[in-house]
Amino acid sequence: MAALRQLRDPARYRPCDWDLKADGRGRRYWVRHFCRHLAILTAGIVENHPQAPARLLEQFRREYLAALEEVEHRPQRYERIDILLLDQLRHELLRRYGFEDPFGALKRRQNGAALRLLPRVLSELDACGEEALPQRLAVGLLAGNVYDLGASAAVQRRVGTGTELPVVSQAPRPRPWLVDDLAAWQRYCRQSPPHRHVAFFVDNSGADICLGCLPLARWLLMRGTRVTLAANSAPALNDVTAGELESLLRQTAGLDGELATALDCGRLSVVATGGTAPLLDLTALTAECAEALADADLIILQGMGRAVESNWQAEFSCDNLRVAVLKDRAVARRLGGRLFDCVFRFENVPAR
Ligand code: MG
Repeated sequence: MAALRQLRDPARYRPCDWDLKADGRGRRYWVRHFCRHLAILTAGIVENHPQAPARLLEQFRREYLAALEEVEHRPQRYERIDILLLDQLRHELLRRYGFEDPFGALKRRQNGAALRLLPRVLSELDACGEEALPQRLAVGLLAGNVYDLGASAAVQRRVGTGTELPVVSQAPRPRPWLVDDLAAWQRYCRQSPPHRHVAFFVDNSGADICLGCLPLARWLLMRGTRVTLAANSAPALNDVTAGELESLLRQTAGLDGELATALDCGRLSVVATGGTAPLLDLTALTAECAEALADADLIILQGMGRAVESNWQAEFSCDNLRVAVLKDRAVARRLGGRLFDCVFRFENVPAR
């Protein structure tokens, strides 16, 4: 395991600042959240593993609930308790039961549908003046991030039934956003030389990656910046994995010349982070990932899991951008906001 080189103080770094071992109420809230989420998880397992025996599924359900109960009532048994630990418990159980990717089919449908919309989105952006682009792309990032299978509120807001999420991104809250550094980001884009290399930690499949992250990556590439997309090594809810992203990029190359050229000459690439959760521990990256991102001078963290539930307090030695829609009431409250508030946090870190 390796740490992101741009972390200012890896020894003091903690991925999650919400200590659920100390905060009993917070712990109860998250344990209940994970309990409620079992219904969505089970529906995904049934869809992706139709041949799984009912008793195996029942055994999984029982073990999942027992693990959560243990966390809630015997916190002293754990060295630390945070949302990342709950994610890890879920991942470990799914893996053990052979239900590694309960939302695989959903992700494929979402990606297919979003890719069909990509050429239109790109031509609309190309028709837009350079001055307006940073804002359009920021809104696109937030619009793609409105839905997430990890957040009950976002799932309840979905159109349709089952575990389906809408493909087309939804308009985010109007500005000013809860954290709104868009003006500083626009000013940076207008006045400063483009970054050399962006480490872009991506979030969900579908509209988020295809219509939010990729258009921003393409614009950065067109300005001369190299882009490395960093994605999970293994499935976590509807997050895009590095393997899926490789195949998505090959498909986008058939749809867009800019992306095709960048891929061909290696200016756009994918790296697997080692992550298996919607949250991210930046000191637990694969050595290959830390190496690939070592010279990045802009870090982008996309989504509530990677940018807010983890890494909100992380300090970086280079410019960084944290973008998310807050799809959980308690997470929003901790930042002084409400459900579906938007975060667009840009830090310009002067070179030392
Ligand atoms: Mg996600």
